[in-house]
Amino acid sequence: MSTTKYVFVTGGVTSSLGKGIISASLAKLLQARGYSVTIQKLDPYINVDPGTLNPYEHGECYVTEDGAETDLDLGHYERFINIPTSQANNVTTGRIYQTVINKERHGDYLGKTVQVIPHITDEIKRNIQLLGKKHNYDVVITEIGGTVGDIESLPYIEAVRQLKWELGLQNSLFIHLTLVPYLSASGELKTKPTQHSVKLMLENGIQPDVLVLRTEHPLNNDIKKKVALFCNVDIESVIQSIDVSTIYEVPLLMKEEKLDLTVLRKLNLPENEEPKLEKWKQFINNFKNPKKEITVGLIGKYVELPDSYKSIIESMVHAGSMNQCKVNIKSIHSERISNDTVAECLKGMQGIIVAPGFGQRGIEGKIIAVNYVRENNIPFLGICLGMQCAVIEYARNVLGLDDADSAEMSRTTKNPVIDLMEEQKGVTEKGGTMRLGAYPCKINKGSKVFEIYNKENIHERHRHRYEFNNIYLEKFEKSGMKSAGINPDTGLVEIMEIPEHRWFIGVQFHPEYKSTVVNPHPLFVNFVKEICKD
Ligand code: GLN
Repeated sequence: MSTTKYVFVTGGVTSSLGKGIISASLAKLLQARGYSVTIQKLDPYINVDPGTLNPYEHGECYVTEDGAETDLDLGHYERFINIPTSQANNVTTGRIYQTVINKERHGDYLGKTVQVIPHITDEIKRNIQLLGKKHNYDVVITEIGGTVGDIESLPYIEAVRQLKWELGLQNSLFIHLTLVPYLSASGELKTKPTQHSVKLMLENGIQPDVLVLRTEHPLNNDIKKKVALFCNVDIESVIQSIDVSTIYEVPLLMKEEKLDLTVLRKLNLPENEEPKLEKWKQFINNFKNPKKEITVGLIGKYVELPDSYKSIIESMVHAGSMNQCKVNIKSIHSERISNDTVAECLKGMQGIIVAPGFGQRGIEGKIIAVNYVRENNIPFLGICLGMQCAVIEYARNVLGLDDADSAEMSRTTKNPVIDLMEEQKGVTEKGGTMRLGAYPCKINKGSKVFEIYNKENIHERHRHRYEFNNIYLEKFEKSGMKSAGINPDTGLVEIMEIPEHRWFIGVQFHPEYKSTVVNPHPLFVNFVKEICKD
């Protein structure tokens, strides 16, 4: 097929309705019918990417294979459709303006006044079409962040309004996601907010083709009819999205509601085969019928907001399902952990994950926690900063280097066991300057991680500046903490493990970015498997 079809997903009434999950679910269903699909997120904020955002602002920063720091919705996209995304899958207003301003400085606009319309909208349209053109996808689903009516989303709405006509009829489609609130006092579901939201869309020149209505209670036919009547759509285009216990059920729910068929019909695409979702159903079945239950502590400093560790939590869900085990994750604030409180804080935890992070705050609590799990033989997975904490702990308490630290935390330490590499030393800009994206790692054949991955050469994604300081490697290895994988090009240590310990692995990379429903990550799967032996 030569023409790429475009689906635009907007949201109304409130934020956080789950546009990302609906987009990913639709993508999953179309993919399962044999279409090549990708999903893109347009974010209306002015940061060039979310890399410089504190997790409290916007949740986790997700990193793609090509090293883009992106919105966490891209994590959902990959977990659902199991194909890598890239920088082109996430565009922010900041990036759009940066490109336009750079072009202006370069003189590309030939003396014209540079304006939101057409210059910003043209750049948005170019970015939307980039993916379809480059990879020839059958369908590109573009999610527009924010809520209709926000000042900052206006250029995006205008751009897709224009694009609809440029693409030609039946080559694009608008899905609008809204909320149907339930008033418990009168026992009623209310459609008025949806009607108003569609009116707002109409004011901006867009008639939604499909309405997906989030609801806590089933919508009867009368309600659907009413929405169809007031919002100028046929009744098949009013899709109910009722609350479910896991986001992974949403594709099955959308299939029941025939969202995929409605979309294909409107885009004039053949239905193809029935979606093949056996693996997916198996996953849900295992998830809903666990045979065991475990509790794992996740130690971090952004624990107030679970979205900060989204990919780690989802990876544990995948790993739990693989092991037919219910995994309870207990978030533990690293600042609460001290020598006096550690036993209490970690009580009942059958395994511990020490999360990634930046800066000094909370670091000592993490180091104390590592010490506790190492000495008590409790399974431990350290990710990025978590691995660095494990190295610091080992250096201080086993190698006897009392002042061992990361150069990130102490500039004066005589023992920077975690240090800045030469190429990072001159870097002053914060945005996009870390070691980012996929790098190769060669695993040592005799190691535990080799057993787990069952292969020698892996690629994992990175997001950090500091590295294990190889000057100390021999000392570590001699006393029992071993490098189990190195970057074959640079010699940088990527994995540390303690073979004597029951399960003690620290990874400099982020395995959580690569775990998907149909391909759960082996490290998480094995970690859960080990804990299940309890
Ligand atoms: N702050 C550490 C570094 O930059 C770890 C980063 C992380 O955990 N993602 O190296």
